[in-house]
Amino acid sequence: MWYAVTAPAAHRVSRLIVLAGDKMGTLLAKNADVLVTMDGHRRELKNAGLFARDGRIEKVGPTAELPATADLVLDLRGHIVLPGLVNCHHHLDQLLTRNLTAGQNTNLFPWLQAHYRIWASRTPEDTRTAALVGCAELALSGCTTVFDHAYVFQNGCKVDDQITAAGELGVRFAVSRGSMSLGQSKGGLPPDDCVESEEAILKDSIRVIETYHDPEPGSMLQIVLGPCSPFSVTADLMRESAKMARHYGVHLHTHLCETLDEERYTLQHKGLRPVAYMEALDWVGRDVWYAHAVHVNDAEIRLFASKGAGICHCPSSNMRLASGIAPLTKYRDAGVRTGLGVDGSASNDGSNLLIEVREAMLLARLKMGLLPPEGPQTVLSTSDPLRAKEWLTARNALEIATIGGASVLGRSDIGSLEPGKCADFFTLDLNAIAYAGGLSDPVAAIIFYAPTGARHTVVGGRLIVQDGEIATVDIAPVIRQHNRNAARLAALDV
Ligand SMILES: [Zn+2]
Repeated sequence: MWYAVTAPAAHRVSRLIVLAGDKMGTLLAKNADVLVTMDGHRRELKNAGLFARDGRIEKVGPTAELPATADLVLDLRGHIVLPGLVNCHHHLDQLLTRNLTAGQNTNLFPWLQAHYRIWASRTPEDTRTAALVGCAELALSGCTTVFDHAYVFQNGCKVDDQITAAGELGVRFAVSRGSMSLGQSKGGLPPDDCVESEEAILKDSIRVIETYHDPEPGSMLQIVLGPCSPFSVTADLMRESAKMARHYGVHLHTHLCETLDEERYTLQHKGLRPVAYMEALDWVGRDVWYAHAVHVNDAEIRLFASKGAGICHCPSSNMRLASGIAPLTKYRDAGVRTGLGVDGSASNDGSNLLIEVREAMLLARLKMGLLPPEGPQTVLSTSDPLRAKEWLTARNALEIATIGGASVLGRSDIGSLEPGKCADFFTLDLNAIAYAGGLSDPVAAIIFYAPTGARHTVVGGRLIVQDGEIATVDIAPVIRQHNRNAARLAALDV
């Protein structure tokens, strides 16, 4: 059904050079009060820092053991340094439709129906400002790697719009050439005029992969195939996407087990639970991760673990849409690769990943205390020592947002601060009022307390947030234009 067409090599190479940026020279980050490595021993170093060359870390350790100077020196006295957070699920174009009245108090299906035509009405320029603002907000919350599940391509919009904006802002980027092909007339949820033909989707998927995908370590841009959900895409497109992804060695992503409505849909239309439907489509494997994965049973969790499939937990979105609580502790206990995402900005409605780390910890604890409890000791109080392992700690939550997310995206070059890895990190000022009085354990403090904005965020050795401000783009006029774009879309009668 699809055919590999090789894009001109010169075009591909030139795009990658532009997106990767120039060589960064050397960087010395020194004197941090605490540096969280997230390495195999989960070391936390005092009065420490790191030295990087051309975007790669060469040394991590006490300041006294690092080189004395570099092209760029950050004196981080009073700061904590953390590996850059990895966002595993977002829809940047939804920054245009935050908190629309029609979608404020509904669950997923009516919420989607309130938004589909507005998303389909956006222009490439609307996408540009949305992606810039979304990536900026993520970077200000410590996120250095952004995955965007883009799947609505109408009105001249292409995934190239998001790619250009993310490159301008300077985040490490992964993006899906996502899709919707199952309109209402064929039993799907989206209106027919919001979906694309399968032929067009597959043809453009080839173009996007061959033009942009860079699989190498240190890659600034990777392409994913992301058919949207079981109720907006045909089984054929899911199968063809999986074959294409495996041909090119790119990863697969979709929404799964987000709501009980979805479960009812696949039972009614496919005669299968959502996970069994994925199995039937060859969509369970190490190259696949699912957004949400809330409504799963124990056998399905074991299946994910045995096949290596990953999940992206999106706590704020799941609360906002009353979707349910994902069994995060069970996933971790079973060895399922688990990352964190803000989800689209129409269901969060922010792009602050550090808030999600806190929400993940709190929501896991709420689930632990609910009936029926998540853990094995179902009749015991949460204070019982037999339930001690069920507590999701601040450090567990940080692990999910860093090294966990890197694993979900299939990357071993990000997620921790170690020699050889990308110089992706962020710092928080521990003298901020939010942390006052809690610095007996600063690593826990930044999760337990309301998060502050990143003081500095570095991607591949390049400062993209400096002293709490976006350093790569003049963001104020972009925000003004974005608000005009969003107001125009909100006024549409669609
Ligand atoms: Zn989503």
